[in-house]
Amino acid sequence: MKPEYSVVLPAYNECEGLETVVEEIVSELCKERSIFEIVIIDDGSNDSTWKIINALRKKHYQVKGLRFARNFGHQLAVHAGIKATSGNFIAIMDSDGQDPADLLPVMFKKLKTEGYDVVNCVRKQRKESGFKRACYFAFYRVYKHLVPFELPLDSGDFSACNRNVADIISSVSQHTPFIRGMRAWAGGKQCKLEYEREARQTGVTKYSMGKLITLAMDGITSFSKIPLRISIVLGVSISGLSIVFVIWVLLQKILGLDPATPRGWASLACIVSFLGGIILTVLGIIGEYIAHIFDAVRGMPPYRISEQLGFDQLP
Ligand code: UDP
Ligand code: MG
Repeated sequence: MKPEYSVVLPAYNECEGLETVVEEIVSELCKERSIFEIVIIDDGSNDSTWKIINALRKKHYQVKGLRFARNFGHQLAVHAGIKATSGNFIAIMDSDGQDPADLLPVMFKKLKTEGYDVVNCVRKQRKESGFKRACYFAFYRVYKHLVPFELPLDSGDFSACNRNVADIISSVSQHTPFIRGMRAWAGGKQCKLEYEREARQTGVTKYSMGKLITLAMDGITSFSKIPLRISIVLGVSISGLSIVFVIWVLLQKILGLDPATPRGWASLACIVSFLGGIILTVLGIIGEYIAHIFDAVRGMPPYRISEQLGFDQLP
């Protein structure tokens, strides 16, 4: 029978805390007296995460599992999970106990009875390092000026949506999906739900600074053309400035103000290195967009699922 609720849990080396998280979800959703499923995506873990998913499946028929052939990354794991769900209402959570399972019934109620398309869970307080908090703070505030939709400030992947939004997200086959951007892009009736984000219950964060920067870049280049436009503005402005500079140099020559000794090499070096920096930055920005096109035209699937549990066939 088709489930009413689906919960997507991406898991990468989460053998320590996964069981507790799943037990909490089962206990919360059993109270709802509706059919539900929990889709866990093992993102190429090299600990016993897949074994635990197998054990959980034996204990709870609602648990289903997908195993990636290697570590393809959090966003792809969430995307594959959403694609594999069949419930009418879908929630996404971390599998490290940071997102409170007791919020699930509240989120589902907002979708089901209040008619929201998307529930964005917004972190009231983060229990992470000051540096990471500052990075997130800055990112969300810059991002909202770059994209043509409203992404609630400080909302992460902990969220819920209805089947229609989940189908839209599933229909996009991108190598670098940015799930929070996709659900904001979908528009419709969206709401925020504030919550206090717990510290990780077990294990360590799988998001290094490098992965966070990649995620931010993917989020920007997937949904915004503004960096390209900034490149154009920068190019035009610098060209304008160089015309003024050329006129100034010519005037010096014509009016005989130019002394015979070679001068100006220092300013020349500054200008050349400044322009070199700008050119490389602009090329880098263009390169990011070309990488997306390359991924799209190559026609390769974004990930490979090697094993599944509880599905009739590989989703
Ligand atoms: N995760 C994943 N693949 C990865 C990195 C993370 O599936 O390559 C999962 C991880 O197990 C967790 C969720 O994505 O359930 C979020 O990761 P994490 O908790 O490490 O990020 P943080 O909450 O520290 O930003
Ligand atoms: Mg986490």
